Amino acid sequence: MSTATNHPTAAALAADVRDGRRSAAQLVAAAQDLRARTHAGAMGLNAIIHPSSVPDLGPGTGPLAGVPVAIKDNLATLELPTSCGSRMLEGWVSPYEATAVRRLRSAGAIVVGKTNMDEFAMGSSTEHSAFGPSRNPIDPTRAPGGSSGGSAVAVAAGIVPIAIGSETGGSVRQPAAFCGIVGVKPTYGRVSRHGLVAFASSLDCVAPFGRTVDDAALALEVIAGADPLDATCADRPAPTLRAEPGRLDGLVVGVPEEYFPSSLDPAVRALTDRALDALRAAGATVRVVSLPHTAYAIPVYYILAPAEASANLARFDGVRYGLRVPGDGVQAMYGATRAAGFGPEVTRRILLGTYVLSAGYYDAYYRKAQAVRAHITADFDRTFADGVHVLFTPTTPTPAFALGAITDPYEMYLSDIYTVTANLAGIPGMSLPIGRIGGLPVGGQFLAARFDEATMFRAAYALEAALGPEAHR
Ligand code: GLN
Repeated sequence: MSTATNHPTAAALAADVRDGRRSAAQLVAAAQDLRARTHAGAMGLNAIIHPSSVPDLGPGTGPLAGVPVAIKDNLATLELPTSCGSRMLEGWVSPYEATAVRRLRSAGAIVVGKTNMDEFAMGSSTEHSAFGPSRNPIDPTRAPGGSSGGSAVAVAAGIVPIAIGSETGGSVRQPAAFCGIVGVKPTYGRVSRHGLVAFASSLDCVAPFGRTVDDAALALEVIAGADPLDATCADRPAPTLRAEPGRLDGLVVGVPEEYFPSSLDPAVRALTDRALDALRAAGATVRVVSLPHTAYAIPVYYILAPAEASANLARFDGVRYGLRVPGDGVQAMYGATRAAGFGPEVTRRILLGTYVLSAGYYDAYYRKAQAVRAHITADFDRTFADGVHVLFTPTTPTPAFALGAITDPYEMYLSDIYTVTANLAGIPGMSLPIGRIGGLPVGGQFLAARFDEATMFRAAYALEAALGPEAHR
């Protein structure tokens, strides 16, 4: 199956559309055709679950003129369903549009469909979707990662050059790593969350995928920036991220020892070592650092995220949105609706969250987790204040696992071990391809200080250029 490298970039396609060498209609038809040929069947990718039948072709101008894009099913779009991969919202169409989607359209992009996801963004494989799993285009017996798996697959398979996902604990970086593409989690507050269906509001971010570092930069430049419709969106202009790859003289790259335990797969370690060598050759200095609270990140995340989710998902009660299953009285209706509408992982998270917030356990779990979150954040702040510009780590401990292989929820949660820290600390992170193991892509992760996406991208441009085709081998 085709892979990431042999398709034109969004930047090149937009230039072609602006200069009249290609038309938006042609690009959309090609995206629809590739989607139709790869979507269904036993090994079908199942990436775009709500395709646009007659997309608005836009103005034909702007930085993304005529570029087909796909949007995760938890971002509100006019005309297309926003179902969050759930029976609860099946067929629901939003009366307004997410800020990120509006900005893409204003930049000339064309929304060709909504992408598959783990239900309400809870998961790491896209297997928890009410619409069936998506498949990894590199090896369709494997998971694409999650929860933004459909967006990652649409990009990796060449259906669209750019897609939007969301991150609460790694849901863009992990699938980017599994599918051999670039995924960026911006600083918390860098991109408006207006129109993103809330999972855990203190962690949620709108986050782009591209096949190249430059396309990811282009997408983030378009969607970032202040928005009066989201009180948590920072009052800062969109950053300038696009640049030519350059030297890294003077750049200090920190390598957190906690992300390289002795149990780390030696093949993953070898690829990160090769990437670090490439960073050194480009002029960077590599320094080992310690983030001592890293080990608590998974337990802290799996207390705080379910706690926030249990509150956010209370609104799906059969009254205001989506599904309603009748019952004998209002309590019975709530119960029947929620039992039928939510799948097992969402149910588990609501129960977990309700438990950790309940009167007898609030201090022992929720309050304590908040305190440890502050220590995790302080580890990063201290490291960046000590002269480290970016951190470099593996994105995930392993390449893509087989569909159906992970049945224990805790084992699934461990695939976020290197990504949830950035969400807890609110810092930016990104994954880019650094090589393959047995044909499967492996991602390397850069992390940077809050609102310093520009330095993170500078490092990523240089690494991508230095590895060249080796990143895909
Ligand atoms: N895999 C993590 C979870 O299940 C992260 C999800 C996300 O980032 N949306 O919660």
